[in-house]
Formats: sequence, structure tokens, C-alpha cells
Amino acid sequence: MKYTPVLLCSLLLMLVGKAQEAPISLEYYLPSNVNYDPDIPKPAEVIGHEVGEWHVTHDKLMFYMQTLAKESERITLENRGSTFEGRPILLLTVTSPKNHGNLENIRKNHLSLTEDGATGLNTAQMPIVVYQGFSIHGNEPSGSNAALAYAYYLAAAQGAEIEAKLDNMIILLDPSFNPDGLQRFAYWANTNKAIQLNPDPNDREYSEVWPGGRTNHYWFDMNRDWLPVQLPESRARIETFHNWMPNILTDHHEMGTNSTFFFQPGEPSRVHPLTPKINQELTAEIGTYHAKALDAIGSLYYSEENYDDYYYGKGSTFPDVNGSIGILFEQGSSRGHVQESENGLLTFPFTIRNQFATALSTIEAAANMRTKILDYQRNYYQTIKAEGAKSKTKAYIFGDAKDVNRTWHLAEILNRHKISFHELANDATINGKQYQQGASYVVPLNQKNPRLIKAIFEKRTSFTDSLFYDVSAWTLPLAFNLDYSETTSLSNAGPKVTNFEPVKGSITKKSNYAYLFEWHEYYTPKALHAITKKGLRAKVAKSPFNIEGKTYDYGTIMVPVQNQALDDQELYQFLSKVAMESRITITGVGTGLTQGIDLGSNDFDPVKEQHVALLVGDGIRSYDAGEIWHLFDTRYQMVLTKLDTRDLNRADLSRYTDIIVPSGWGNGMLSAANTDKIKTWVKNGGTVIGYRNAANWLQKNEFTNFELKKDTLIAKNISFGQKRAFLGAQVTGGAIFEATIDRSHPINFGYAGNKISLFRNTNIYIKPDKDSYNNPIQYTSNPLQSGYISEENSELIKNSVPFKTNRLGRGRVIIFTDNTNFRAFWYGTNKLLMNAIFFGDMM
Ligand SMILES: [Zn+2]
Repeated sequence: MKYTPVLLCSLLLMLVGKAQEAPISLEYYLPSNVNYDPDIPKPAEVIGHEVGEWHVTHDKLMFYMQTLAKESERITLENRGSTFEGRPILLLTVTSPKNHGNLENIRKNHLSLTEDGATGLNTAQMPIVVYQGFSIHGNEPSGSNAALAYAYYLAAAQGAEIEAKLDNMIILLDPSFNPDGLQRFAYWANTNKAIQLNPDPNDREYSEVWPGGRTNHYWFDMNRDWLPVQLPESRARIETFHNWMPNILTDHHEMGTNSTFFFQPGEPSRVHPLTPKINQELTAEIGTYHAKALDAIGSLYYSEENYDDYYYGKGSTFPDVNGSIGILFEQGSSRGHVQESENGLLTFPFTIRNQFATALSTIEAAANMRTKILDYQRNYYQTIKAEGAKSKTKAYIFGDAKDVNRTWHLAEILNRHKISFHELANDATINGKQYQQGASYVVPLNQKNPRLIKAIFEKRTSFTDSLFYDVSAWTLPLAFNLDYSETTSLSNAGPKVTNFEPVKGSITKKSNYAYLFEWHEYYTPKALHAITKKGLRAKVAKSPFNIEGKTYDYGTIMVPVQNQALDDQELYQFLSKVAMESRITITGVGTGLTQGIDLGSNDFDPVKEQHVALLVGDGIRSYDAGEIWHLFDTRYQMVLTKLDTRDLNRADLSRYTDIIVPSGWGNGMLSAANTDKIKTWVKNGGTVIGYRNAANWLQKNEFTNFELKKDTLIAKNISFGQKRAFLGAQVTGGAIFEATIDRSHPINFGYAGNKISLFRNTNIYIKPDKDSYNNPIQYTSNPLQSGYISEENSELIKNSVPFKTNRLGRGRVIIFTDNTNFRAFWYGTNKLLMNAIFFGDMM
């Protein structure tokens, strides 16, 4: 139906009226046919403003939830940890007081639905579990602001209807999925609010400063981390998820200002094949409740288009491979307090009301569909258990004898998802790959959730659709660059791992000559940084050698004992501490005589302390920058200067050995003056490391010279209506490719095999150099390992190179066309960046 002008006018008046003339009231959000307990404090009485009048800050939001938990017998509150910025990660459990008295039993009973012996349980007698979460993107604030009104409703609403619901339901209410981002955005929207509300989209209120409030402290999109669980916020909620196995999980977002409201199901052709069809049918049935609720308040909405249900790292998709139903909500964003839109003036309270309405319609659906959804969950686990039991593949094995930490970190993800795994019984060669006991794990498929295991390990290269909202592949053993195999028997499985402890580092003995450690272990850059920062001399081996019965690979670090800033005893103690903190083994040797290069050889190059700057700010992609900041700060404990592009013109660059330029706006990402400044610094000896489309900027400004492989694709028989899908199919949104590496090149030090897997989300294809020694990393002739790439691009990528380096004056230019640090879970290629940092001079 189209709005008549009269209707449109009255709608505008109503929206403006709410925002500007009459004061906003709590009643605007709440169902009017309900009585509310006068003893329950309303949000405004606690936080000092009405819901929707200002953007709630995280601290006020928490203060209100704490108050409710104190005042209401229906609500308890738990603190599950803290964000990077020290904010609590709170969870409210909402149910009837009677259920609260029996909560642990209810939880255990509920979990048993997903276990063996669930057939005998009477689902008609069991409460349904609903996990409702808000504003995982901090600058999509209507969700968290709606949580104020929604929590009030749950605590204060009276009468048979709400009481029956709470008797039959456990609500896990997560009012802010992203505390740090919410706080950042509230500050922005509130500090730019005027008394005379101004809906002009050009107003500063609607245009946040870099990096915006979408992400968490290190600028990660947390709605990609539900499967890899690398961030504290995700770790808390994944624990809640597996503790409760909720039946429905909702994820309240915002989208562009001109859009209306979206609820799942999304695009039917873009659902992950491991998600059962019934899941989508139930999602659609739940959708009828949302439609009804939005009809009742006159809000426009849509469903079954735009959004997909493919990547299991998203909050609305992860539940789908766990017998649960994930639901995405997207509300057109007012961003600030009121903004002009194609649908008239869009007020902040209006956006909050839609989120409130669908939070309520979710529990309405849950109450009415309770046994059906509980039965679905039970059936799901019975079906997949049978699948796992009769699967030809019995287990996945993974490991790397040279890097137990990387192996450990993949196992850590399994552990967080309550997937059980075993030690390897004996050293074994499986499908041509060698696995070492103590440095490998066996993951049997015959356990609770074989589909989740498949979602983590499988490679997939054929798809029903060529459009992806996010990445098309995430095969974790490839992301970790670990050897892995599928086996058809469990004969390699040793004892189940029950006490999962981090790897312990150690030093073998005190030496008066030298200490050695190979470069393969994940945390060796942390160790090398600690050593060089202490002012100690260290060298790196450019060739392999053998000493005292042990072989040492390319990139081995040697720390001589004599002529150091510490005496031999102090050095021993210091290196013991380094070994422990970096979880590596440091070996003391008594001689410099080796088979191969002797320890005094010129084939050992000195390594100096590195002082690294990272370009951030306008022109730079905050995700890519944040991944690098997080890597240095949290994994390697290296100080890194975040150099804002705004301040570049007045910064003294001579302080830095390396400047990293993350992907950004490409050619125009820096001004001519700033570009010249960096170029002069490189010519004087600096190393610039450019990622993804920073390669174009480096090329255009003659830091480097390479040839691109270009596609010549033209649209034949493609109609205008098909244009978007046609162009979308050419996007390489995130897939995994195999490259051959030259292990003698310093960029590859620390890699034990001849192949690596790389994550790529660009279409920049560089031709290989005519001299093969200049192509230390080169895609194979058939490189796609997992994920989607168009036919045209799959031709271009063959034998192209994702890495390029050249001298410029006394300095060095290094280019990666791929993202080696993707989303904190691509452990497998972090070493490439650290090699560029520490060994750039040698390349
Ligand atoms: Zn969002």
C-alpha cells in the first residue's frame, strides 16, 4: 500500500511530535492494555532521562539493570567478565520467581534435551530458553536503548499473560553485546545533540569520527566472532550459549537510514547447507509474530531478501548449527536523535519502539511455539548424532610439531565450543602428513555436535549462490596453517583431553656460550622483541644447521652469552623468564661448531629492536588497522604507535623502523605531502609495509613497480536487472588460497612446510617477477582451497603473487595483497607480518 499525502503528513507529525513537541514518554513503547507494578522503578527515575531522549551510556544502562535486579524477583544479574576497557559483561536472567528457585535443575533438564537419552523427556513440561541480545554494533543503538524499556516491561508488567510466559520461559537478556562500542557512540550522539533537534543528515550528529562506535575496543566487528571466539565479549556469550543451549537467539541491529525494518528469514538461496530446512521454516513462522507486532504499530518491514544466513561467525547464524534458531533484526537507523529519510522523519524513539515490539513478539512466538521448538532442538541433536555415528569420516586430526602454540589455540576454540578432543595415541603418518604425539589432537565426529565440527573443519568450493554478505570460507585448520587430515578410524585417538592447560615454556640449561630457539613457534616474535628491547644482541640464521644432535631451521634466533648487557647468570634468568612468558623452548649450547653454518658465521644477521608505527584514522580501514594493533598489543606485547593520518605532517618519523599502512581508500588515501614524507623516510632507511589496496597507493606513487593481471570481463546478455548480481559475483569477499613458499627467503622464516594458506578479500592480482627468487610466495596453479571466487578471477589468481618487496633508497617497500591478520583468528599468517618487521632489512 502507498501512503496518501494525508497519511504521510500525519505520520510525520506524529514522529516529529514525539521527538520535539510533546516530551517522550515510556508509554510510547509499552503495551497499553497492561498494568505495571508501581514498585518497579522506571528507567527515567534511575538514569535521569526518558528512554529515547538521550542515547543511553553503557554505565547508565548497567546501573538500571542492577537496580531492576535488586527490585524485581523475576530478575537476577551475573557479571561474566569485562571488556578490553573494563566494562562489565552483564547478563540478566528473567523468569518467574518460582523458576528462579529451581533454575539449576531447569538448566540441566534443558541441556539433557541435547544429550543421549532425551527421548523420554516431556517437552510439554519444559520451559523454553530465549537469548535476546542487543546492539552488537555499538552505533546501532536502538537495540540497547530498547533493552531499557524491555527490561522494565519484563520486571513490571502484571497479569496472567506475562506470568504464564515467565512460567514457561527462561529469558537470557544481554542488554549490550558491545559495551565499549555503545559507550563510544552514546558519547558521540549526545555531545552533538542540540535543543532544537536537527534532522538535517549533513549535521555532525549523523557523521561519527573515525573509527566510529560499531566495533569494540580494538575495532573488531564482534558480529563475526561467534565461531572463532577470540574476543572477551564473544567468549562470555559463547559460554552462556553452551551453558544454556537457548532455543531462540535474537540479534538486534540497525541498517541504513532509508531502510525500514528487516527480520529473518533472509535470502532463501543463501543459507548454509549445514543448517536444516526446518530451521528456516521455524524462523519464518516466528516471523509471522514480528509481522503482526509491526502491523499493529504501523511500521513498514521486509523479510526474505538482502541478508543471508551463511557465515556461522554471526550471531544470527551461529545458533542455526547448534539446534537453535538465530534471528537477525535490522532497523533503519536514525543514527542520532532524528533524521530525514525516504520514509519521512525517522526519530530515535521510533526505532527503539520497533526493536521493543519485536523483542516482545519474539517471546510471544516462543511461548506459543514452545513445545514445537523444544522438540525441534531434541530432534536436531538426535539426527546429527546419528549422522556422526555413521559418518565415513570418523575424526579430524590436526597439529604441527614445530608450533604447539598454534595447535593449542585451535584446540582452544574447540574447547570453548565444548567439542571434545583427544591426544594423539602415537606418532603417525596419515594421508602423507606426519603428526607427532603431544603436538596433535584427534577430534572424533561421533559426539554431540558433528555439524559444528564440520562447520569448523570442512572445505567448501561449490555454492548455490555467488553472492555473500560476508566471507565464503573460514576453514579453521587452514586459517591456522596446520596440517590436518580426515581419518576413517579412531585408532589414533589417545586419552580424551580433560585438563586443557596452556603450553609451558622452558630453558634447557644455563650456557656460557649461546642460546638458540627456532622461529616456528607462534610466540617467538614476542620473545625476540623482549630480547632486543632489553638491549641484548641477537642474530638470525639465514641457513639451517645442526648442533649437539639437533637440527635448526631457517630463521633460528641465536643469543650469544659473551659481551652482552647482562652477565651470564642474569642472561640465563632473563631468558628463562622470556621462554616461560612466550611459551617456547630456549636451548643452551656449549659450542659454536655446527654442521652447517657455525654460530660465528656471517650467515647470522643481527636483529635490532623494532619501533613500529601503524597508520590509523581517516583514509584507513579501521578493521584492518585494529587487527594489527590487537596483534602487537595483546599477542606480542609490542608497543605500537597509532599514527593518525591527521597528525602525519607534524610527526617525526625518524623514531620508527617500520610503518604499516593498512588497507584504505587506495590511491587517494594520503595527501601528496604525506606521501612524499613517507617516501623520504623510506629512502633514508625505513621499511613501509602496505596491505591490500595500499599496494595501489604505493604503485601509483612510485614506491614500487609491479604489473597487475587485469580482468577483461564484459557483461554479455546481462540485463540491468541482473547487474547487481553480476557485479556482486566478481567480489572476492573472503576465501582461502594456497601458495608455494621459498623457505630460504626471510619472509617465510618459521614456516616448516612448502605451502601456506592465505586469506584473500581483494581482487588485486600481481604478476610474478621474471626472476624466480623474487617470488618467495606464489599462488599455485590451482590455488582455491575453500570459499568462493568467480571463474574470471580464479584464472587471474593462478601463479600470481600476493607478496612483493623491493629496495627504495636505503629503505624497503613490502606489499601484501592479502590480509595476514584477519579478525584475530588467522594465526597461520601472522608470522609473515612479523618477518617483514624483524627481517625486512635482509630481504
Ligand atoms: Zn549491525
